Amino acid sequence: MKILVVEDEQSVSSFIRKGLEEQGYEVTQAFDGTMGLRAAMQKDFDLLILDIILPGMNGLEVCKKLREEGETAVPVLMLTALGATDDVVTGLDAGADDYLAKPFKFKELLARVRALTRRKSLSKATKQLQVADLEIDLDSKVVSRGDKPIKLTAKEFNLLEYLIRNKGRVVSRVDILENVWEVNFDMGTNVIDVYVNYLRNKIDKNFSPKLIHTVVGMGYVLKESYDENS
Ligand code: CA
Repeated sequence: MKILVVEDEQSVSSFIRKGLEEQGYEVTQAFDGTMGLRAAMQKDFDLLILDIILPGMNGLEVCKKLREEGETAVPVLMLTALGATDDVVTGLDAGADDYLAKPFKFKELLARVRALTRRKSLSKATKQLQVADLEIDLDSKVVSRGDKPIKLTAKEFNLLEYLIRNKGRVVSRVDILENVWEVNFDMGTNVIDVYVNYLRNKIDKNFSPKLIHTVVGMGYVLKESYDENS
């Protein structure tokens, strides 16, 4: 597993690098946004850990640029300042998959890293999943509806995969948090709603039937339904 750490604070960067290397990850460091973006575009990484506050181009710009350039598959973990909730939403909008507030304990970082990189190692078993005319390929990460290709970020893909695997079953926000984000601590469930909306805009908005349905007071269910009220 190759991880790119983009962080200008030497102490934080080496704390992350040492910890991850002890866990067997291969770590590349970049110390400003421009270097980080260049490295991310040139090499194939399994994960990017991206600090928001960086000299030159900040982390949000790096992430946005990366996604615009078509690097949609690599998961991005954003590091934010504690309590900066605006940064969290902006970060997710810029295409980050998850975030971690500074200061953090290494085990918290590791939990996020494992969750975000897990998909890649799982996808060894080749599989395709389908609901109505929506198809997802777990190997190539290609998603399509009615033969139209749909670009999803890594997190959106994981969320969709989870919903499809639980097709017809109502899953709660906590279920989603635990299984897709693999965390059950300190993260509000509103991030789930934000992501479900991203996913809806991509896979449901211009298509029929709608597949993702809200079950008031319970959560979400993915099913083929022509019922306007569901
Ligand atoms: Ca920084």
